[in-house]
Amino acid sequence: MSGAGANYSLDTEVQFLKGVGPKTAMLLGKLGIKTVRDILWFFPRRYDDRSKLPQLLMLRAGEAQTVRGRLVDVSTRGTRGGKVLIRAILDDGTSQVGLVWFNQPWVARELQKVQGGEIVAFGMVKEGQGRSLEMTSPEWEVLDEDDEVGDFARITPVYPLTEGVPQWAVRKAAASAIEYFSRLLEDPLTEEILRANRLKPLSWCIKQMHQPDSPDTLDLARGRLVFEEFLYLQLVLQMRRNEVKQEVGISFPISQLEHLLPGASPSLFAAADGDHKGDLWTQVHAMLPFELTGAQKRVIGEIWQDMERPYPMNRLVQGDVGSGKTAVAASAILAAVKCGYQAAMMAPTEILAEQHYLNLVKLFDPLGITVNLMVGKQTAKQKRTAMEKAAGGEAQVNVGTHALISEGVKFHKLGLAVIDEQHRFGVVQRMALRQKGFGHPDVLVMTATPIPRTLTMSLYGDLDLSVIDELPPGRKPIKTHWKKPWDRDKVYATVRTLIQEGRQAYFVCPMISESDKMQTQAAEDLHYRLTHETYPDLRVGLLHGQMKPAEKEEVMEQFRRHDLDILVSTVVIEVGVDVPNATVMVIEDANRFGLAQLHQLRGRVGRGSHQSFCILVADATNPDSEKRLRILEETTNGFKIAEEDLKIRGPGDVVGTRQSGEIEFQLANLVDDGPVLETARQAAIGILDRDKNLSRPEHQMLLQKIREQRSYEALIVVS
Ligand code: ADP
Ligand code: MG
Repeated sequence: MSGAGANYSLDTEVQFLKGVGPKTAMLLGKLGIKTVRDILWFFPRRYDDRSKLPQLLMLRAGEAQTVRGRLVDVSTRGTRGGKVLIRAILDDGTSQVGLVWFNQPWVARELQKVQGGEIVAFGMVKEGQGRSLEMTSPEWEVLDEDDEVGDFARITPVYPLTEGVPQWAVRKAAASAIEYFSRLLEDPLTEEILRANRLKPLSWCIKQMHQPDSPDTLDLARGRLVFEEFLYLQLVLQMRRNEVKQEVGISFPISQLEHLLPGASPSLFAAADGDHKGDLWTQVHAMLPFELTGAQKRVIGEIWQDMERPYPMNRLVQGDVGSGKTAVAASAILAAVKCGYQAAMMAPTEILAEQHYLNLVKLFDPLGITVNLMVGKQTAKQKRTAMEKAAGGEAQVNVGTHALISEGVKFHKLGLAVIDEQHRFGVVQRMALRQKGFGHPDVLVMTATPIPRTLTMSLYGDLDLSVIDELPPGRKPIKTHWKKPWDRDKVYATVRTLIQEGRQAYFVCPMISESDKMQTQAAEDLHYRLTHETYPDLRVGLLHGQMKPAEKEEVMEQFRRHDLDILVSTVVIEVGVDVPNATVMVIEDANRFGLAQLHQLRGRVGRGSHQSFCILVADATNPDSEKRLRILEETTNGFKIAEEDLKIRGPGDVVGTRQSGEIEFQLANLVDDGPVLETARQAAIGILDRDKNLSRPEHQMLLQKIREQRSYEALIVVS
């Protein structure tokens, strides 16, 4: 360290680092590196293991290798394709290897400067012309006279760079920062946390990240830093969760309902555990056209218990397609309404909102409970009426899209907010609806498609979790088959056979674009083809997003009544339609749909006692899409499908469009680091058990760190 004196800190500018001058500092600035702290946390993109530099004689094709030798020749020539080919020869006395670049004349210039000198190169070794070995576009650097060879005989960090910034500049700055500053690093994790989770101290880990002793020490270092990232997030979520439990919420007097309601029967139906929700159970039974599954009953029980508690409910209900979340939501809504409050149910799309609306009208109308719809496409007059009904309290149940959280919307006494999440809302929208409530309303979030556990914990860690892990009885697992386009005739024949046996079929038209109009066109085309060419003798209906709600409902009703044999549809049927006699679904161009979406679609069949089939018609255009189709053939388990989807697509995609305020990690990866997330979650719970506000002196750095995490802003300020 040059004479910066005693007052240097991690905020010292990199230009004051030994071996880094203003010029290099400027280059580092391009990477966003300004201070010593920045460079210490600027981690390598990957590492080259140069601890074993092979002799060139021992080099084999097909492996990424680091080699060292004298640059004995550099030549440049034009190729027939009009490109510039640069070829250099590296020699270490045992053998030679060729280094090849295309169209990078500056590389030739650099190489010519050092011809005759020693360089180190890293790259994939391939067999070149005449069985000689070569590397294409290797990374390389000059071995300076004063460089210890030992410096290279190690695992070397390779940093992510931007144009004009050379590797050596970052390496030098990082090495210098570690040498002179790493002892200034204070560990936000206490001895106790480190010991309990078998983690290494921060300064050791930072050094290993930049200069690993071995792959194992690197793993330990990375593991600890990942843990730390997850720990901060989990602390925020758990604190948030505890905070909500300290708020004064609505205590719905569910157990006393029988006393409130005239003529209610005594607790004949009271659960064995002695609670007195018997009357409400009776009403739920009367309202629903089927017997609830054990899982549904359990989850409804959990929700009602939450609703009775004096603090606000904040619960996530997770359940596979067709597990019957609507009935669960309706039971929660019924409880809220019976206790004299309004309820709201928010869905991510208009179609889904309308579908929920129709379903809820069917359930609540006979009970004299008013259901209100709020969606963007309503006319000004319809909107005004809907808003009046919500604000005046006339509508006890309010269903809609995000129109529900738009500015002018007010509720008279909103006690329960149900959010059918489907991955499309974020924490922000959740909070927005909550803020429209009467004091602190209860919040119920439902996910229609299962999300892998790691994502659930990171995105919904502030929520209590209920899982509907049982499907309604009598459902046979759907058999799924992937067929190639040229097998279409056979597919059509199979469908015909099933229809002749008295069943019905869905045809889902290919997803052409996001545009409603294009989708409609595709559905109309398929409808035309099936009506006129394939099944002129059968009754074929059509359903798409541009139809009016009444028209849609009419077509669905015809299909339900079995006035139609086949329903051609866009993804509109992803939600809501429930026809047990429909036992086969043909999905055209299945490649174009996401895995989770296909699973969702498929959930429309397999609802009755007959064996159901899902036929995916698709070309496998690449290994990924082939893999996805195979997964669907192999399993009907939504959670497994969600895990696979996460592996193939990465977390950003699975959760849908990234909203602002979505969580990002520097090192942690939700696909691979799931187990660490689990440990961090347990650790966070443990820490907060002992120190619920992180107010102890030894936790001050942790608290500080949490406040620094910008992406957590959406998760509500940690006060
Ligand atoms: P999802 O969880 O996918 O939202 P739904 O709530 O749409 O599922 O329910 C799927 C279908 O299963 C609905 O049409 C509903 O009528 C039916 N269903 C739900 N629960 C039961 C049950 N306990 N017994 C029989 N059918 C049920
Ligand atoms: Mg649903």
